[in-house]
Amino acid sequence: MTNIMLAAFVKVPFQFELREVPIPQVKEGWALIKVQACSICGTDLHYANHLATEWQGFGHEIAGVVVAIGAGVTNFKEGDTVALESGSYCGVCDQCRNGRVDLCNKAPNFWQNPTMGFAQYILAPKECLVKFDHLSFEEACLAEPIGVALDMTYVADIGLGNEVLVLGLGPLGLMAIPLAKMKGASHIYAVNRSGGKRADVAKKLGADTVVTGKALSEIAFRKGGVDRALVSAPPRTIQDAIPVMNYGGIIAFIGIEFGAGAKIEFDANDFHFKKLHLRASHAAPAIYFPTVLKLLQDGHLHGRDFISHIMPLTQMGEAMAMMRDQREEVVKIVIQPWV
Ligand SMILES: [Zn+2]
Ligand SMILES: [Zn+2]
Repeated sequence: MTNIMLAAFVKVPFQFELREVPIPQVKEGWALIKVQACSICGTDLHYANHLATEWQGFGHEIAGVVVAIGAGVTNFKEGDTVALESGSYCGVCDQCRNGRVDLCNKAPNFWQNPTMGFAQYILAPKECLVKFDHLSFEEACLAEPIGVALDMTYVADIGLGNEVLVLGLGPLGLMAIPLAKMKGASHIYAVNRSGGKRADVAKKLGADTVVTGKALSEIAFRKGGVDRALVSAPPRTIQDAIPVMNYGGIIAFIGIEFGAGAKIEFDANDFHFKKLHLRASHAAPAIYFPTVLKLLQDGHLHGRDFISHIMPLTQMGEAMAMMRDQREEVVKIVIQPWV
């Protein structure tokens, strides 16, 4: 093994560089992972457009092979195939000890590393490693975003017989469709601003009604409205969802917006009299990996359904431009650092 690896860096406005940098040195409590697959997330676009004010490494949906372990890493060995939680939980803070590991953000993580998943190796704390077998790396790296989609279905408390609206058919919305079905949704309305491949994928994944390019108010819901809404679309769509919610409905929202679009208005009386819930699904820490990996391994979810493109690390910039410019046609792009 040489001491040099290839790693991608990002900087606003939408600049990317591939550099040869030293392979990180393993340290106590951390493991060195040879990255085999890392998928691109909408958050990566935010880094390229708004957040990366200085050059920085990126990529957080990662699967690979353990190639070295630091002192104190006892439950992993060289050669283990692992998916990486993009944030784990510490196990010792008050939230963790009160049984709410989902509310802990105190665990060590790799976000402060100089390089992350869009690189040939990544250094990761042992807390983030989750072993898997019988799954390709390309599918296993999707454990992170599918876990986020699963969190959205938990937050919305989807139950048997619910009429469910999936608003926004990006990767998270699409991933939520089969999960909501498995949780007992009786009818899923998948709604997107535009059609294209994403709408086709929604149908394939089990959406009962796919609607594109229409206002929610124009849809004839068979129960008058919906019981649950999973919103992974711009914040303003929350105000569109409120009028179509049934009594006691729950809206789960995930999304980041910059500028004026981050502020929304809605009729609080409507909200009150319909006894609605509006809940954030910010899936940090990223948990539920064992559940998601098992669903993938057992074929209840097919990772390939979500992967529209597989590209080499050397085409990082092109892949990011596709994410930005070809929204309807791109679902998940998986980057392979060794091709
Ligand atoms: Zn992500
Ligand atoms: Zn904790």
